[in-house]
Amino acid sequence: MTAPTADSLIAASPLPRTEARRLLEYATGQRREWLLAHGDEPLEPLVSERFLALQASRINGEPLSYLCGEREFYGLALRVNRAVLIPRPETELLVDAACELAPRHAAVLDLGTGSGAIAIAIAVTRPDLRVVATDRSSDALAVATENAAHQGLTPSRLSFRAGSWWQALAHAERFEIIVANPPYIADADPHLTEGDLRFEPRSALASGSDGLDALREIASGALAHLVTSGRLIVEHGWDQGAAVRTLFLRAGLQDVHTQPDLAGHERLTFGRAP
Ligand code: GLN
Repeated sequence: MTAPTADSLIAASPLPRTEARRLLEYATGQRREWLLAHGDEPLEPLVSERFLALQASRINGEPLSYLCGEREFYGLALRVNRAVLIPRPETELLVDAACELAPRHAAVLDLGTGSGAIAIAIAVTRPDLRVVATDRSSDALAVATENAAHQGLTPSRLSFRAGSWWQALAHAERFEIIVANPPYIADADPHLTEGDLRFEPRSALASGSDGLDALREIASGALAHLVTSGRLIVEHGWDQGAAVRTLFLRAGLQDVHTQPDLAGHERLTFGRAP
């Protein structure tokens, strides 16, 4: 039997071609251009075995981003693993909002940073800002720290704190902008047992019987950590806009409003400290 080539593995793969190519790039450690130019050459047995193992995991439903250990967010290549949520394109809106609203040289806080995606994208886009990012998971902080270093962000521009929500901060610490993409899916939501979500950390996705436990904690602690006129901006589920606005108003925030995402779903809610 002749050894498989890149072309023959892709042709025989039950995966969509783009996915098979991406896994083959990862298995070979080569770029797309190399695969196109050398697609008819026999591959090392170890390389084709590695590809077949990745392909089997993908067929089993494991997200491509975890298999390749990488995900693009806000034009940045970020490392991801199963300790962190895979950054979603709609969360880029939260980065846009924070970068638009942050005054020059402001302090920005990202609560529950996971891979560091939001904090890193803000720090890269706005070099004048000082960003603090928190997570209670040390495995997530390891990923975020590596991603920040890879973007050349020193601790003076982006620093990390371990702890659950506000517990990661000192009492007196205040920020001009606080952002969070917390877990907001209801514990019993059947989506948690489907698709990519099965492979992602439950603690980054689900938050109590109505999905609002984390958002309640974030809203209620915000005034103690915002400067005068500082902004809180959170991502939430498409059907949680009204509930989150109520939480923000009860917490004493003003100018409370919700912005839809590109699909027209309520996605971000904003509030301002008096
Ligand atoms: N938007 C994600 C999803 O529904 C959930 C992310 C989150 O809970 N913060 O897949």
